[in-house]
Amino acid sequence: MIPLQPISPLGPVRMAITFDDLLLFHGTPTMPPGYTSIDRARSFTHELKMHGAKGTYAFSNTAPTDVDRELLRVFDHWSEEGHCIGNHTHHHPSLNWVDAKAYVGDIERSAEIIEPWIARAPRRCFRYCMDMWGDTPEKFDAVQAYLKSAQYTPVPISVGFHDVRYLTPYWRTLKAGDKEGAAWLRRCYIDSALHELRLHCASARAVFGRDPVHIWLIHGTPIASDCLGEILDTFRSAMVEFVSLDEALADPMNALVPPRISPEFIHQVEKWAIVNGVPVDDRPPPILLEIEKMHPAPGESSADIVERMRAIVTDRLGAKIRPFPLADCQRG
Ligand SMILES: [Zn+2]
Repeated sequence: MIPLQPISPLGPVRMAITFDDLLLFHGTPTMPPGYTSIDRARSFTHELKMHGAKGTYAFSNTAPTDVDRELLRVFDHWSEEGHCIGNHTHHHPSLNWVDAKAYVGDIERSAEIIEPWIARAPRRCFRYCMDMWGDTPEKFDAVQAYLKSAQYTPVPISVGFHDVRYLTPYWRTLKAGDKEGAAWLRRCYIDSALHELRLHCASARAVFGRDPVHIWLIHGTPIASDCLGEILDTFRSAMVEFVSLDEALADPMNALVPPRISPEFIHQVEKWAIVNGVPVDDRPPPILLEIEKMHPAPGESSADIVERMRAIVTDRLGAKIRPFPLADCQRG
């Protein structure tokens, strides 16, 4: 591959790869024909091996295993390949929508299922759903205290790329048999991964005056399994080095918790930017509106699917769904 412009003028950027939600969300019909969770997991571990990424942590909601125990093979495969499983709650609520007791109960419910795999990982890790650590000091303190008592390390995200927004358009496009459209979505997805990495790494340099070790997030979706190899190739030719989660967690950006209650849907770089008064740009890329125009159908928009996911969280956990407030850096 032709070398690309490096992500940073300061030298190679180190980054730990992490996965969220290897299992698709409970009650959503977004699996395209011919795709399975175990095949996706195999494709991810193959690409991780090809790119020298070891001990990669995956955080997954576990509610789909209530109705399909076969899905647990995904966790078997992941750990047999030398990667690690962390806790990400059972139903995947935002902590904004439930109280600390319900949230901790949902962490414990997931642990009842995945503890055997968590116990095999060198570090017991937890990832907050949507990287939302609590919208009140009371919730933040209560859940952090629980995680400490259960010996979990909470793992933040420093770079994402709104990748989960491709889940529903990709499903609709493949279901319609539109191969060209699917190829266009994959191109947008890969380009967006690189664009967002450049953006968030630049924001981090503005905040810290250096390149911190990043924690990158990709969700375990069908489009991710079709594109991970090319994304990692692209990153490598833009001078990204894949490192362990331990190395990333040792960086103060990740080791310290930004001293601010953040009710917004924002990640670690933006939280530190707000704390330090550094203006950064975290507006969603306009391509997200374009991809949603692919093969519209009643009840099959991204908003419809999100609605179904939220209905389950409301039903099972008594969640009170409210829109997330926007941070200044997310406004147009
Ligand atoms: Zn998640």
